[in-house]
Amino acid sequence: MLTARREPMELDVIGLTEELIGFRTPSQASNAPLAGHLQHLLTQLGFTVEEVAYEYPAGVAKVCLVARLGDGEGGLSLCSHSDVVPAAAADGWTVDPFCPRRADGRVYGRGACDMKGPLAATLTAAARYRGRRLQAPLFLVITADEELQARGARQVIERSRLFAAAASGYGVLCEPTGLQVVHAHKGALAITVTARGRAAHTSTLRGVNANARMIPFLADMKRIYDLVLTSPRYRNEAYTPPCSEWSLGLCDHNIATNMTPARSVCTISYRPMPGVDAEGLVRRTERSAARHGLECEVVRVGDPLYTPPDSPWVQLALRAAGRRRPQTVPYGTDGMIFVQRMPQLLVLGPGHIAQAHTVDEWIATRELERAVEVYSRLIERVCVPA
Ligand SMILES: [Zn+2]
Repeated sequence: MLTARREPMELDVIGLTEELIGFRTPSQASNAPLAGHLQHLLTQLGFTVEEVAYEYPAGVAKVCLVARLGDGEGGLSLCSHSDVVPAAAADGWTVDPFCPRRADGRVYGRGACDMKGPLAATLTAAARYRGRRLQAPLFLVITADEELQARGARQVIERSRLFAAAASGYGVLCEPTGLQVVHAHKGALAITVTARGRAAHTSTLRGVNANARMIPFLADMKRIYDLVLTSPRYRNEAYTPPCSEWSLGLCDHNIATNMTPARSVCTISYRPMPGVDAEGLVRRTERSAARHGLECEVVRVGDPLYTPPDSPWVQLALRAAGRRRPQTVPYGTDGMIFVQRMPQLLVLGPGHIAQAHTVDEWIATRELERAVEVYSRLIERVCVPA
């Protein structure tokens, strides 16, 4: 039988980072051209590739990719996203955000750090294992819309056959952590409460003031606001900071002082942690809104991520990254969604979050090269026979 010989392939992580930055993929635009490019590359690297396509918003094509090298279930999943936050020259960029530039040991461009550089590092590490016999499969998971409440990740856990096969294994969110091993981050929930009244000239007394309807509800919310910052029941010392704000936003859209406000909106965001009864707070909020005749919409954006520091997976990752102790971070990742199916997750990637979402975003080339080595060691330990 004739079979095509599959040799390991050498990719240049810095060149590949530049190539990926060149695809203009703010979350508001389609990522289909980049997904097509990645699919071609993954196929060359010997992966079986599954596409999870959808539209968001309507008419804008989005594609997530789940790819497997080797057979079977479990193994190792290296997870990235292909969308970036928007960038415009008018924001003060000194370089074209989508024309990468290399200088002073750095690559500049939108997504260099969050997270086309980290994605390029996973591809470069995977290329070394083309044609190698793996005892456990290697998965690459590349979502769209991570920056839009992880919508792509939601599609992946609901629809991907390959992700279902990966779920019992070890997962890495390759977001920038300065190559520290992060074993926990908080979840996210968002609540919007709306009071409705009737607009009128204030002199006529014909209006119904929406803010007056909102105020008793706000008094209830202030009690929750104080509670979550002071009660030990809402603390988890494994996280930094150990409590989360019941963050309140207000808007009544009122543009003139002689108009009775017809609509008043309170937005609430909260970052749940394990062991904290966030659902109890949601129920209390829903009851208060109902009591005061207000509309209430709850969006559970995602769950907290927590893999015990002494678990075999965290310990293995610490050795691969040459670190002593795992960390926590305050920001969320696609892990908020993946954790519903894939419990053994951590965050580990090159670059620093302080460089993400900035004007003149950059990543150090040395950090990219180190990431390739760390990911290669993870593949070696999880996927390659001893
Ligand atoms: Zn990111």
